[in-house]
Amino acid sequence: MISGSGLVVITDKNVSHFYRDQFPRGTMIEIEPGEKSKNLETVNSIYGQLLDSGIDRSDFIVGIGGGVVCDLAGFIASSYMRGLKFGFVASSLLAQVDAAIGGKNGVDYRDYKNIIGVIRQPEFVICDHDMLKTLEKKEFIGGLAEVIKYGAIMDISLFEYCEDHSTDLLEMNPVMLDEIIYRSAVNKVRLVEIDEFETGERTKLNFGHTFAHALEKITGVGHGEAVAVGMIIAAAMSVREGLLHEKKAIRLRSLIMNLGLPATLDIAPVELFQAIKKDKKKRGGEIGLVLIEDIGKSVIKYIDLDRLKLILDDLQLHSI
Ligand SMILES: [Zn+2]
Repeated sequence: MISGSGLVVITDKNVSHFYRDQFPRGTMIEIEPGEKSKNLETVNSIYGQLLDSGIDRSDFIVGIGGGVVCDLAGFIASSYMRGLKFGFVASSLLAQVDAAIGGKNGVDYRDYKNIIGVIRQPEFVICDHDMLKTLEKKEFIGGLAEVIKYGAIMDISLFEYCEDHSTDLLEMNPVMLDEIIYRSAVNKVRLVEIDEFETGERTKLNFGHTFAHALEKITGVGHGEAVAVGMIIAAAMSVREGLLHEKKAIRLRSLIMNLGLPATLDIAPVELFQAIKKDKKKRGGEIGLVLIEDIGKSVIKYIDLDRLKLILDDLQLHSI
């Protein structure tokens, strides 16, 4: 560990490998890359390193990395000594368009994702498309699922932009990348400004995510892939509930596939249902789901768990 001068860098070993030379000087804390680090054991270890380095409330924490690093750095900065200032340099597309924006910082606990956490805003979020070059292609494509999500729930012009430029996006054209990163961030900020503490509108960002979290848990696929399939299931449910024209669900599915994301995962409906039942957003016998009425228009619906089970059984997941 390098001794510090008021700045703590929290990063992971992958990001450090590529960018260490460009890091600001300060106390450096490295974690193991990946979701498995997003837990209280890692938090515990970092608290210890902060204490040992004499870090106090006058210091600043910068998280340099993807979603896991940003979540951990934000959570630690919000809780250590009752909170110190922090900022993010988001290195993955997922972090740039979603995880680093909006102030939600949390960790997983037992089987639950993000169940321990806070909402506290960073001082800044830096998103540089150049950093995406060091991502694995699969991870980059995973981030595109969140971009499609903004299009589907609130921004038809972003959706159309992705449709028109799918090849350029997959080739990581910097102009197109800047455009989707910027537009995604603007959309997220808009919802966070209206509803920072997620009592209403912000919930729409969970489109596809109730299914996605369950799919991630069961199949072990990455977040973006799970979100892609989750959005397809949510759209199919929207059709089933009489909210969405089937053509629009097909259009969403086409964009997902054109951007290299999966449209299905091999999973039994009953398994998916059991995993959803454990979801943290459950309310009594009902579950809150974000459905869409059109591309760019979403609604929050509470659906009875028994009805959800029936619909899932009916959807025949392998063929949606
Ligand atoms: Zn997500």
